[in-house]
Amino acid sequence: MFESLGSKLQDILDRVGRESKLTEAQVKATMREIRMALLEADVNFGVAKDFVAKVSEKAVGQEVMGSLNAGQTIVKLVHDELVETLGGKAAQPELKTQGNLWFMVGLQGAGKTTSTGKLAHLYKSKGRRVLLVAADTQRPAARDQLEVLGKQVGVPVLKVQDGETPQETKRRLEEHLKTDYRDLVIVDTAGRLQIDEALMDQLANLQAELQPTETLLVVDAMTGQEALNVAQTFDQRVNVSGLIITKMDGDARGGAALSARTVTGKPIYFAGVSEKIAGLEPFYPDRVAGRILGMGDVMGLIERAQQADLKAMEQQKAGDFDLEDLMNQLRQIRRLGPLGDLMKMIPGMSRALPEGFSVDEAQLQRIDAMISSMTFKERRNPKIIDGRRRKRIAAGSGTSVQDINKLLKMHEQMKEMMKMLQKMSGGKGMKGMKP
Ligand code: GDP
Repeated sequence: MFESLGSKLQDILDRVGRESKLTEAQVKATMREIRMALLEADVNFGVAKDFVAKVSEKAVGQEVMGSLNAGQTIVKLVHDELVETLGGKAAQPELKTQGNLWFMVGLQGAGKTTSTGKLAHLYKSKGRRVLLVAADTQRPAARDQLEVLGKQVGVPVLKVQDGETPQETKRRLEEHLKTDYRDLVIVDTAGRLQIDEALMDQLANLQAELQPTETLLVVDAMTGQEALNVAQTFDQRVNVSGLIITKMDGDARGGAALSARTVTGKPIYFAGVSEKIAGLEPFYPDRVAGRILGMGDVMGLIERAQQADLKAMEQQKAGDFDLEDLMNQLRQIRRLGPLGDLMKMIPGMSRALPEGFSVDEAQLQRIDAMISSMTFKERRNPKIIDGRRRKRIAAGSGTSVQDINKLLKMHEQMKEMMKMLQKMSGGKGMKGMKP
């Protein structure tokens, strides 16, 4: 998702970013292009208009026209406005030490049951005692599906019976909690194909009875702006507290996710990024903005690395980061799954990779081969790798000198980025940088 919007914005900003001075006409033309790109990505009309108006206003306020570094300033203004539009600071559902009850609502097929299982997985891994309640009595097999997910994750599932009243459900839940203490209960409610009054009532009644601490609406990114209409209607009936946008891994244009915060007034808590149980990520506006603009997602990369407990990476000092470390990290990264995603998180990588290019096992094996063909000295001190050595390494690894050049450049970029991050985190190393 966001690929097409991302590459358009990157093109526009690449051009403008190279200009040290800009005329008013240039700024205006750039803003028009940005607006077009947003609209083509299915961003809500009002949101696109506002976006451009705000960036233009700030550009005027900062008097970028005619000043040095005008292009760079515009790039930064667009980035910051993207972060704002996506919701500014990351928001997460409220989580008390006990008594948390989350209500999952959404249209049938949006990914509600899947997301319920994913949340159980995520919060169990954070040490929560999760109970799932299968209350989707509408979609055939939804309760069985949740039961399977519960088994997979290792959390119990309480199944609501056909014809059960909300009062009975509440009583059975309380009974269960008496003998089996749980601090987070997640209720998968009845989905519907479209907004339907009778079912909405049923949902509102169960909600009134159970008094959830959060009501999470699951919407499908692939349905575009329609997802936001659905959100508004649900909000009127059941007071939504936050959104989960699923199928962000699909080829939706991204406009719905970009417009969601402004149109619905609700924060995006999570993004569904695959069908797998681990395919749910907290939504960090700054990271998403960075990814859209091809600035890489270093934080995301680090977080995944930390999840995999890569102590070596955490303790890495930027100054010492050499090719040996890069090789070790890449080997570990290979175990972290979706390689294309991970590689795109490396700063500069998404732009360096040609359109439609996906990093696969073979690619990483080549990098591994290249580094393996270097001497220990070369790995520790890449500066000594001159033209002659590059030729030798290329021949030894069955690659080309250009491949070696690319690798060395990528390593330099990573090293720079790590230095910058460590400065930002006050020299505490990677560990101090958790968001
Ligand atoms: P429900 O009717 O809302 O409970 O929908 P389901 O949870 O059964 O999901 C409908 C379909 O969407 C299933 O095939 C899921 O595997 C798929 N799905 C859900 N979330 C995601 C996601 O984030 N990415 C992808 N690719 N598929 C998803």
